Amino acid sequence: MRNRYGLIGFPLGHSFSKKYFTEKFNSENIDSEYHNYPLKDISELPVLLNNNHDIAGLNVTIPYKQQVIQYLDDITPEAQEIGAVNTIKASRVNGKLHLSGSNTDAPAFESELSDFTGDIPGNALILGTGGAAAAVSYVLNKLKWKFFFVSRNPSDERQINYEQIDGDLIKNTLLIINTTPLGMYPDITRFPRLPYNSLNNNHYLFDLIYNPEVTEFLKKGIQEGAKVRNGMGMLVKQAELAWETWQK
Ligand code: NAP
Repeated sequence: MRNRYGLIGFPLGHSFSKKYFTEKFNSENIDSEYHNYPLKDISELPVLLNNNHDIAGLNVTIPYKQQVIQYLDDITPEAQEIGAVNTIKASRVNGKLHLSGSNTDAPAFESELSDFTGDIPGNALILGTGGAAAAVSYVLNKLKWKFFFVSRNPSDERQINYEQIDGDLIKNTLLIINTTPLGMYPDITRFPRLPYNSLNNNHYLFDLIYNPEVTEFLKKGIQEGAKVRNGMGMLVKQAELAWETWQK
């Protein structure tokens, strides 16, 4: 049977994954197909899998990376600690469905970060406290970076608000990672409120956004001489890692 893969989430307007995997299957002569499955509610997942026995793997996106966990038979320790799954492998043994969950955002980010900054950790700020921030913080902990989350509404001692970021804090920070949607297409003029004029050529700015290629956040860093990286490399790596997971 021809294998089928797909993306669950809602809404699924423009999907990177569908385009990426369809092109991959064509260029590498892989006899598989990839579809978008917009689920209005995550409780529709068992029905989708029951009706499509050829589904061998799924990517998971907003808003189901956390909610999907209750439907899985097992989950990697990494995904468990992050609290989010973005990849599901579906296998059938004697007709019985088995669902395994993992998180490929974290290893994809880790690989990109090491390539970007080298392997010497320092002080970092993570802008935002959502699902992507959880994967990023897992990696920073693992690599022994010291960091704060920056939130509009800080809720614990590891979080600060934007008003607390002054020039001195920026000077003592090596890496700033944007995990908020500020600046993402179509609202491309938006950016996180930071004292950008305290940045210099020692700083690294990493934006998880990949559309546009250069966000306002990154533009402001470039103006001050900072080194910058967008989310495209991470996006491609998490997709390739999902593919490897499905082939195991
Ligand atoms: P999310 O769960 O919605 O979290 C985003 C966080 O950003 C929120 O928790 C919020 O934190 C903050 N935020 C939201 N709106 C804001 C606003 N108007 N102003 C300031 N802060 C705001 O989303 P996510 O899943 O973490 O994804 C975040 C971004 O990362 C998206 O742009 C997504 O496309 C990108 N992403 C990229 C990759 C990749 O492979 N490149 C992978 C995953 C995600 P507070 O409420 O604490 O302020």
